[in-house]
Amino acid sequence: MKRNHLIKPILDHNYPTVSHGKGIYLYDTDGKQYIDGSSGAVTASIGHGVLDVVEAMTEQASKVSFAYRSHFTSEAAETLAEKLSELAPGDLNWSFFVNSGSEATETAMKIAIQHWQEKGFERKNRIVSRWTSYHGITMGALSMSGHVSRRKRFVPLLEDFPSISAPYCYRCPYESSGCKLQCANELETSIQRLGSENIAAFIAEPIIGASAGAVTPPDGYYQRIKEICERYDILFIADEVMTGIGRTGKMFAMEHWGVTPDIIALGKGMSAGYTPIAATLVSDRVMEPILKGSKSIMAGHTYSANPLSAAVSLEVLAYIERMNLVQAAEEKGQYLLEKLHGLAERFDIIGDVRGKGLLLGLEFVSNRSSKTPFDLQDGITTRIVNKAFEKGLLIYPASGAIEGIAGDAVIISPPLVITNEEIDSLVKILEASVEELQHELHSEGLI
Ligand code: PMP
Repeated sequence: MKRNHLIKPILDHNYPTVSHGKGIYLYDTDGKQYIDGSSGAVTASIGHGVLDVVEAMTEQASKVSFAYRSHFTSEAAETLAEKLSELAPGDLNWSFFVNSGSEATETAMKIAIQHWQEKGFERKNRIVSRWTSYHGITMGALSMSGHVSRRKRFVPLLEDFPSISAPYCYRCPYESSGCKLQCANELETSIQRLGSENIAAFIAEPIIGASAGAVTPPDGYYQRIKEICERYDILFIADEVMTGIGRTGKMFAMEHWGVTPDIIALGKGMSAGYTPIAATLVSDRVMEPILKGSKSIMAGHTYSANPLSAAVSLEVLAYIERMNLVQAAEEKGQYLLEKLHGLAERFDIIGDVRGKGLLLGLEFVSNRSSKTPFDLQDGITTRIVNKAFEKGLLIYPASGAIEGIAGDAVIISPPLVITNEEIDSLVKILEASVEELQHELHSEGLI
């Protein structure tokens, strides 16, 4: 059979063909076993092959898979929205369903803009974001993203939204003056420069994922951000596409800091990869002028709120609660974090270990004491990811934020169902991969 019609991530790369999955493992058609150490793209949080989800899927599909949302509502979508309003903090009582994280952040942006328009503030339409961030691949989401390598090609077509520094403590630009949360204060400076009458919202990932590898802000950061947003009448959008639904040891990562956003974007963990579904959660306060005004959100997709995906997501949420997986993320995360610190003690090329729950990251450096990053051309992230892959471990590459400044990082984020013994196996393969890489880099004269 001719096999060159599918556009794959890297066109000339020879990908193995996946056969099936069970728990934390995936298998290819040659019978090779892989530990899914990143839950794919931080997605498969309940593990693979969960039959309860298959049953829920079959049951819903046998009744109805699709009914257009302009014609019908559905029991599954209504119940899912109700469930999310119970789980979400504060008055985030409304859900708008979409199909991917990019659509969820793009919709968050549109709802924020619409909120102000309905109140008569037509010009309040810029979104402030951060460098070293990723909010999605569609043009609006990319305009809000500070992931240099993903946006570079499209820069002339993107909205020129303002960006501030990320709370990247390992490479803090304000290090010499001590932490006074200046990275958060940059938001205030940015608002003062642009005028709050021109800004709809500030968007941030609670813990930075794809662009830098589980970069976690200092305590007090989000409290300060929220204060500034309130002072200047700017909405706060938390992009919890990667962090949401238990991944970090809380249902929503913002709970770590006790801060309630106005809008939350969710994706990945909502269905744990079983079907595409994502959501934009909106507070009563944000909805109020829309309910009084045009009474419709100007966003949506053909598959929005389809009953099949909603039923799957409901079962995934029920499974997470039944199996206590939010607590598991916290406990297993602690165990894995200690093991990763152990690796960092052994290998000098590991500069930083970070993250919360089962969203953990490693950053690689050529010199640990000066924190010197590798040259991006040396492709260290790709090399470590490929080495682990060959040995049967999947990890997630998370570099490309700021070329030449912060370089190589990976995310380790196994399914929340992982056991301590399975964590030991994961770490063993990771250790062998880092050891081999460090050895090679020595002989190549790169360290
Ligand atoms: N926001 C965040 C924080 C993400 O991590 C991602 C995906 N890596 C997205 C948005 C985009 O989600 P999707 O790939 O489902 O469009």
